[in-house]
Parts: sequence; C-alpha cells; structure tokens
Amino acid sequence: MSLPSSVDVAIIGAGAAGLGAAHALKHSGLSAIVLEARDRVGGRGHTIMASPDVTFDLGCGWLHSAEQNSFVAIAEQMNFEIDRTLPPWRERAYGKSFPPDERADFFRALEEFFQRIEDAAQSGRDNPASLYLEKGNRWNPMIDAVSSYINGCETDRLSILDFDAYQDSNTNWRVRRGYGALMASYGVSLPLAFNCEVTLIDHSGKRLRIETSQGTLTADKAIVTVPTNLIAQQTIRFHPALPDKVDAAANLPLGLADKVVLALDEPGELPKDGNLRGATMRTEMGTYHLRPFGQPCIEGFFGGRFAQALEDAGDGAIAAQSIDEIVSFLGNDYRRRIRPLKESRWAHDPFARGSYSHALPGHTGKRAVLAAPVDGRLFFAGEATSPHFFSTAHGARDSGERAAREVTAETDNK
Ligand SMILES: Cc1cc2nc3c(=O)[nH]c(=O)nc-3n(C[C@H](O)[C@H](O)[C@H](O)COP(=O)(O)OP(=O)(O)OC[C@H]3O[C@@H](n4cnc5c(N)ncnc54)[C@H](O)[C@@H]3O)c2cc1C
Repeated sequence: MSLPSSVDVAIIGAGAAGLGAAHALKHSGLSAIVLEARDRVGGRGHTIMASPDVTFDLGCGWLHSAEQNSFVAIAEQMNFEIDRTLPPWRERAYGKSFPPDERADFFRALEEFFQRIEDAAQSGRDNPASLYLEKGNRWNPMIDAVSSYINGCETDRLSILDFDAYQDSNTNWRVRRGYGALMASYGVSLPLAFNCEVTLIDHSGKRLRIETSQGTLTADKAIVTVPTNLIAQQTIRFHPALPDKVDAAANLPLGLADKVVLALDEPGELPKDGNLRGATMRTEMGTYHLRPFGQPCIEGFFGGRFAQALEDAGDGAIAAQSIDEIVSFLGNDYRRRIRPLKESRWAHDPFARGSYSHALPGHTGKRAVLAAPVDGRLFFAGEATSPHFFSTAHGARDSGERAAREVTAETDNK
C-alpha cells in the first residue's frame, strides 16, 4: 500500500503488537495504517524454510502459557495446526552428557532458586536475581545460562519483582507451520506500508506529523510498538522529546537470545523432540532441541552475554560453536552428519537490536510508564508494555489490542 498523506491512526511497527492493534481498529470507523520498516510483517516472529524439509522460526516459536495465549484461537481459526507436544527442556534428555541424577539435582537447585525469588518478591522490595543464588552452589553457572534463555540476560541484570510478575502456566505448544508464518497470515488484509521506517513523530502541532523513509504523513493519533532498544537509542525520535519514555525503555532493555538450525543427516537414533545439553557447569553453553516435529535437524539456543559474544564474532560463529558442542556430547561421527543451515543475529538486526525485554533491578514499574498514553494522542504497545506476558508474542499482540481500545475510548470521549 502506498503512503497516504493523512490518516486517523498511524501504527508504527507490524510485529505482533502492531498487527493486534490494526485488527482491533478494523471495524472502529477510524482509518488506520501500519508503518513497517521491514519488507515483511511479524517483526521478531519470522518463519523461514531453512531447507526444503526444515521449517524454522528464527524468532518466537512457542505458544507460551498456551491456555491463556490469544494466538491459539487465532491459529485454530486460520487452520494452523497446533502441536501440543510439551517441550523437551526438562524430562526428554538424550545421551550421556547430562545423566539423569545430575539433571534431577540441577532442576532441584533451579526450583529452589525460583522459590527463593518468589519468597523474596513478597516483600515488594526489588533486587537483582543473582542475590538469590546460593553461595558456592555448583549449579550457579548453569542457572545463569537458563536465565539467559528465559530472560535474555544473566541473573545480575534481572529484577526479581519483574520476573515474579510474569505469568507462566507452564504449558507451551507450537504452530507446526511456524509462529512467524501464523503472524504473516494474521497480517494479510491489513493496511500496511512496507520499507517505511519512522524516524520522527512531531506532536507539537494540532495533528501529529510523522516523518518516514517514504515521506511525511499526518495523523490524529499514533500507536508506537517498536522494541524498547530503538526508543532508548532514539532511532525513532519524538518532538517535543519524551524523556520518561526514553528512560523507561532504557530500563527495560531487550536481552539477547539467538537460535541456530543445523541439518542432520541420518537422524537415526536421535529422538524426535528430544533435548540435548551438557552438565557443563558453564554459563557459556547452548541447549539443543533434537529433531523438532521429527524434522531432520537440530535447533540450538543461546542467550545473554554468550549469545552477544558469538554474534560479535561474526556470521557462522553460533553454528560453529553448536557443532563443536554437539560433537563433544555425541562423538566425532556427528561432525560429518550436521551442517549449518541458518542462524539468527537479533542484536545486529537494525529493527530489533535484541530479542526480548527484561526489567533491570529496581525498574519493574517502568512497564506501566512505557505503556501510558501521552496527551490522548500517543499510545504505546509492544511486548515490553505487557504487565504479565512481557517478552512474548501473545503479550505483544494483546498489548496492541489494549492500545487500540485506548484509542477508541479517547475518540469516543471527544
Ligand atoms: C530468538 C527469539 C525467540 C523467541 N521465542 C519466543 C517464544 O518461543 N514465544 C514467545 O511468545 N515469544 C518469543 N520471543 C519473543 C517474541 O518474538 C516477541 O516478544 C514479540 O514478537 C514482540 O512483538 P512486538 O510487536 O512487541 O515487537 P516486534 O516483533 O519487534 O515488532 C516491532 C516492529 O516494528 C518495526 N520497526 C522497528 N523500528 C521501526 C521504525 N522506526 N519504523 C517502522 N517500523 C519499525 C520492526 O521491524 C518490527 O516489525 C522470541 C524472540 C526471539 C528473538
């Protein structure tokens, strides 16, 4: 769609939040357009065919808290098959690299750590989660690795109040054709302008003036859904400036999680939907999903500072690390059986600059600050604004719907 010169509502970003907002405004009587910097919808949801027989989600893959996940009903409505196989993170371990008794001991230490955080959060006082690691516990480095997968950061950068506010039902499903593919279908039929990067929202006048890489348009209202790192680093600017939003975004940084998919020849003995990792006693470790959906591949997952170091080492470093680690667990024979197909580099993605948000210690209240409307004209959505489902795709989508409701309520009041 070409850029109109004027619209009632401009939605910035066609990720889950922007799509949720656009759907909610469809029958409102307001004209709306979604302005998207990329040439596709989905943002941090992106499914690719990594090879003719391997579907791979570079970003979100799991329908977290599935019973409360609004994308489940959307998937069903759109005839996207949902796979209810539970994740292999815990029980379905493969090989000798993490023997069952060690694994049980590790999960006991992890659960005790989570419990200490939950107890401490009752006081309402915030602290870094690292304070609740048991001194000298041999599993601490691996607990930090798990934190880097879940939160995108290690425990020293994680607010316990924020972590405690997340609502996890522990039911995680998947979309067989890909979460990103579901979002792409969800975006069909919405008014979208691609390759349209918004650089400035001028709210000094009667109407909003929005500067983009495709030209300027005016709007009565805008819903901003871009990732926090872009607001914090002011790649999108406001005039007059909004220092509270910049501060809130800076204290809700996107942590980092990266994924890699490796083709697997002769899948043979490796179980469908198995898990592989080592009792490596390091934070610098990957976790591997064997043959997801039975496909001939292995997916690797890395988080936090280690993911950043691997990204900084250049394209291919994540795959190389994964292959070395898998070979160390399964034997040299695997070096000829696995080969790189694709890896993500979310920190280097100019329109994400990270993977998902966490609150820095002392800043859990910043989610509400970021979400608050300004002057009844600027509205904010995106995963980081979700009070209980931040860092997820459904949390993002629901936040877009919430912002759209705020827009229509404001319009009805006039
Ligand atoms: C590796 C990885 C694994 C994940 N796993 C899961 C998972 O299993 N389950 C889950 O629920 N979530 C997961 N997530 C998180 C989930 O993907 C995100 O929380 C969610 O997709 C964020 O949606 P959003 O709309 O808030 O932001 P985004 O998807 O980032 O959308 C924002 C959009 O704004 C666009 N944009 C940016 N700047 C501009 C600009 N200046 N002008 C115009 N457009 C702009 C971007 O291109 C983007 O399309 C994962 C994320 C990653 C990276």
